Amino acid sequence: MPWKGEADPYKVWLSEIILQQTRVDQGTSYYTNFVQTFPHIYSLAKAKDEKVFKLWEGLGYYARCKNMLATARFIAFENDGKFPESYEELLKLKGIGPYTASAIASFCYNLPKPVIDGNVYRVLARVFKIKKSPDTTEGKKYFVGLAAELIDKKRPGMYNQAIMDFGATVCKPALPLCDSCIFQKTCGAFLEKNVLAFPVKLKRITRRERWFTYFIFYMGEKVFIQKRTGSDIWQNLYEFFLKETGKPMKWTEQKIRKYIDRELSIPEKVEICIHPPMKQMLTHQVIHAVFIEVHLKKMPTMLLQFDGKWLNKKQLRETGFPVIIRRFLENSIMLS
Ligand code: SF4
Repeated sequence: MPWKGEADPYKVWLSEIILQQTRVDQGTSYYTNFVQTFPHIYSLAKAKDEKVFKLWEGLGYYARCKNMLATARFIAFENDGKFPESYEELLKLKGIGPYTASAIASFCYNLPKPVIDGNVYRVLARVFKIKKSPDTTEGKKYFVGLAAELIDKKRPGMYNQAIMDFGATVCKPALPLCDSCIFQKTCGAFLEKNVLAFPVKLKRITRRERWFTYFIFYMGEKVFIQKRTGSDIWQNLYEFFLKETGKPMKWTEQKIRKYIDRELSIPEKVEICIHPPMKQMLTHQVIHAVFIEVHLKKMPTMLLQFDGKWLNKKQLRETGFPVIIRRFLENSIMLS
C-alpha cells in the first residue's frame, strides 16, 4: 500500500477519502493516479472539477469527490495550505468523519486517536469476545471506548497501523491464522472455539432496485448527454437522456417510438437500436439499465429545453460517466 508509513497529511487524507467505501485493491491505483496528477493540495485545489471527477470515475459515492474538492480548496485558499493539527478542527472539514480525522491526527501529528476500521472491529470483537454488534449505536460506542483505552499513547500512529494490519493479515474474516497467533492463549473467541461468530452482525444490507432507460440521441457523430445534479447517486457525472421507471420496462421498437413521439415530439420514423440490459451493484442500490440508440435526422425542439450538451467520440472518452455507462461505451462500437 503506497500510503503506508506516510506522514504527509495531504497524502493520508487523500488515501482515506479514496478508501472510504472502496476496497484497498481497487483504491490503490486511484491513489497513485491522484498523487501523480495532483502532487500537493494546491494542484488539487486549482484543478477543474471535470478533471477531478474524470479521475474519480469508477470509485462511486461521488459526494466524496465533491467534498474532497471543497476541502482541498478550503485548505489551499483559506488555511494557507495547511491541514488543521487537532482532531476537533479536522472533524470540521467537509467529508472528514471520526475515522479520517483519527487517521490524520495519529499518523501525522501523533495524537492518541484510535482508528477503527472493519479490521479493528474484528480483532477487538474476537479478542475481547464482545457480544455487542458494531452495527448498533450502543455497540459502536462500546468499541470506540475500548479502542481509546487500548491505544498506545506514545506511538498512536504505529499502534493504529499495527492493529489494522493484524486484522488484515492474521485475524482475517474467514480464515484467521489462530494456530500461529500471539493472542491464542487469551483470545476470548478462540478459547470459546467460536471465532467466526465475532464480530456479531445485525444488519443485512437490503438494496433498492432501480430501472434506468438511457436514450442515446445521435445527431450525426454527436450524442446528447446531461450532467447529474441533485442529491441522488453519481452527482456531477454525465449520462445519456434518462427515463427512470418504477418497474422493469419491456421496451419494443413500437413502445419506444410512441414514447419519444409523445414525450419529446420526435417523429416515429427515426432509426432505433435496443441494447441488452446491464446491471450495476452499488452498496445500497441495484441499477438495471437499458441503452437505446435513437438516430435523429433533425434536432427535436423538445430536447433543446433540457440542459445538456452534444459530444463527439473524443469528448465522450474524456468525460466522467458512472461505471455502468463507461462499461457500455467500452463494449459498444460508440468509441471505436
Ligand atoms: Fe484472531 Fe484467532 Fe488470534 Fe483470536 S486467536 S486474535 S481469533 S487470529
